[in-house]
Amino acid sequence: MKILRKINDFFFKTECLGCQTKGSLLCDECLSRLSQLEMNFCPFCFKISKFGSTCSFCQKRRSLDGAIVALNYQDPLVRKLIKSAKYKPFLSALLLKSTKCLTEKVRRSPLYKNYFLKEKFILVPIPLTRRKEAERGFNQAEIIARELATQLNLPLDVKTLKKIINAGPQSHLNLKERRKNIEHSFWAASSKGKNFILVDDLITSGSTIDEATKTLKKAGAYKIWAFALARNLKNPVK
Ligand SMILES: [Zn+2]
Ligand SMILES: [Zn+2]
Repeated sequence: MKILRKINDFFFKTECLGCQTKGSLLCDECLSRLSQLEMNFCPFCFKISKFGSTCSFCQKRRSLDGAIVALNYQDPLVRKLIKSAKYKPFLSALLLKSTKCLTEKVRRSPLYKNYFLKEKFILVPIPLTRRKEAERGFNQAEIIARELATQLNLPLDVKTLKKIINAGPQSHLNLKERRKNIEHSFWAASSKGKNFILVDDLITSGSTIDEATKTLKKAGAYKIWAFALARNLKNPVK
């Protein structure tokens, strides 16, 4: 039995990612200590904005209408959490637990009842290419979106938006190169007059989410917001 438990511990390590206390992947204390982004700001240049809408300056060259983001990626524990959940499928339970920070922030926003529910916004996870999803075995954005759909009572759609080209790693590229790199990598079904909320684990430069937005708007979508677990605040993008 002891050996069995050891094997079990090895494969399903149930210790907190933050403080290594045994019992859960993320204990309540560490969950409450994750660095939250209390303010609402433009998703591209980080200027404080009403409810998180894209500021008038960024609107000129961006398609996304706004974003609600819960956590600060500069917090080492947030970083560890997002990286772990992306590559180790059994740690995806971490995503479900930390999604709580995001559902709470959305519920606190006046937009939730008066806009997202009223205008029938539909949650759409940022897709992976079919090949990438098969390799990884899951799409972390979809796990978050399913949890949000349940908690926030919003519909979920995993068919309208597809990723058709794998753009490859982007971290070494500058903003202009990133935008070029990801161009035309999504496909969207006809979406006339629909409102969507794109869901992802992390927004880095905003290029991916903006390209997905552009694709959906070309397919007829009207308003598009984004919900993300975390934002990398290192380089504001203008
Ligand atoms: Zn802990
Ligand atoms: Zn801005």
